[in-house]
Amino acid sequence: MNPTPHIQGWCPGAWQPMASGDGLVVRVRPPLGWLTLHQALRLSRLAQVHGAGTLELSSRANVQLRGVPPERHAALLRSLAACGLLDADARSERLRNVVVDPLHRLGDGVQALALALHQALAQSPELDALPAKFGWSIDGGYSTWLHGVSADIRLLRAPGPGTTAWCVQPDGLRWALAANNQQDAVAAGLALARWFAQRCVRQKALGQRPGRMAACAKELESALHHPADENSTATSSTSLEWLTSLPAGVAWVPADGVVSAQASEPPLEGDALPCLVPGVGTLVAAPLGRVPAQAWAEMVCAARRSGVTGLRITPWRMVLLESGSDAVGGGRQGCDAAAGLPSSPHWITHPDDPRLRVSACTGAPGCPQAHAPTQALALTCAPHVPPGAHLHVSGCAKGCARQAPATVALRAEATERGPIWAVIRQGTASQVTDERMKEAILQDNPGLLFAKNSCSTATKPRAPRSTGSPLPPSGAKPS
Ligand code: SF4
Repeated sequence: MNPTPHIQGWCPGAWQPMASGDGLVVRVRPPLGWLTLHQALRLSRLAQVHGAGTLELSSRANVQLRGVPPERHAALLRSLAACGLLDADARSERLRNVVVDPLHRLGDGVQALALALHQALAQSPELDALPAKFGWSIDGGYSTWLHGVSADIRLLRAPGPGTTAWCVQPDGLRWALAANNQQDAVAAGLALARWFAQRCVRQKALGQRPGRMAACAKELESALHHPADENSTATSSTSLEWLTSLPAGVAWVPADGVVSAQASEPPLEGDALPCLVPGVGTLVAAPLGRVPAQAWAEMVCAARRSGVTGLRITPWRMVLLESGSDAVGGGRQGCDAAAGLPSSPHWITHPDDPRLRVSACTGAPGCPQAHAPTQALALTCAPHVPPGAHLHVSGCAKGCARQAPATVALRAEATERGPIWAVIRQGTASQVTDERMKEAILQDNPGLLFAKNSCSTATKPRAPRSTGSPLPPSGAKPS
């Protein structure tokens, strides 16, 4: 039996890197999810000088350097600070776990809200008790693509007076706080976060794990509807004092009644894909979210020649080449830049590229918990993954890099004769399965994975529906 994977319970940052099999993982949180072209070029250089020469895009819209020797960490921090990519301290960095909608338009209030939230978080010492992974998302309402991004509190731009109305939704709750302006939205979000931080303190004092916001949604909902029960057993860990500190104009509304700001313009749905975003720029993807630093630098130089003004880092392992908000023509320039990338194998610019249908965790040798390398196998299998399907390759049962179920998930397992792959259909890497395949079989015939899948689902013979008659249906042919 394979050992249970160790769960860290926190994400690396720049101040607090994570030790891995190939050195330190240093995660950079670009301010407001945005890099100037100069900052992007510096990151490429720093990855080559201090790291393993690769940049990774995380699902929290961060850029990650791997393979940093511990003795180089201090120098790396100084370089990050010099180009404006380092928070004042580890605390500020940890609290600023905010995913900003990369599809936002200039002047739509998204950036302004993000800035106000960052400042408020930095000035709120009472939030130190929040769990290390506590995070936020700010959604401009231009797509459904942020719905799958983990966030304890979501701020959704909503219709209302001007462009500044927001809904503030705690994860898992069927209710959201409606705020008419940015100031109230930040105040409401902070009130929720403070309540949760106080709850964490109480839970820890009782020797219990505080969990995440979604885990206490029932408790919060019960307290909202039955505030008189505040001292009852069911809500004993819930203080409702924060409710009285909410701004006067903020009110609870049913979350399913929240309409995004772009109701008049259908939001982009489905999976995030490389595309031209009119008036904003061009989305390009990195295979498995990883790019050699040199290819990253070449992309930035090509983008600069095409008039791109900056890079928005997305939580979808893509980069948005920002080309201005004044005209669709600005997006066209970005499209040309995408098409002309000098190292195109390292970037995905077409939505039908099969590499978009695979994901993989770090695997061996980068991760000490991995039972096998993962990334090469995922890319080998990619051309055999049919449109609409997804293959995830995981080095162990922890399932980093993809929490959602995949059409097929492969999980490496250690055996006495070397690693073997557990095949999980319509599930995650942590699930139980009886089906296992040797790597040699997968390498020789990667199409087998999905051929078997289609046999077991789409083409499985079904018994004819009973008519209640012992005779075959009239249209049935005799055997
Ligand atoms: S899922 Fe992959 S990256 Fe995560 S711990 Fe397991 S082997 Fe390492």
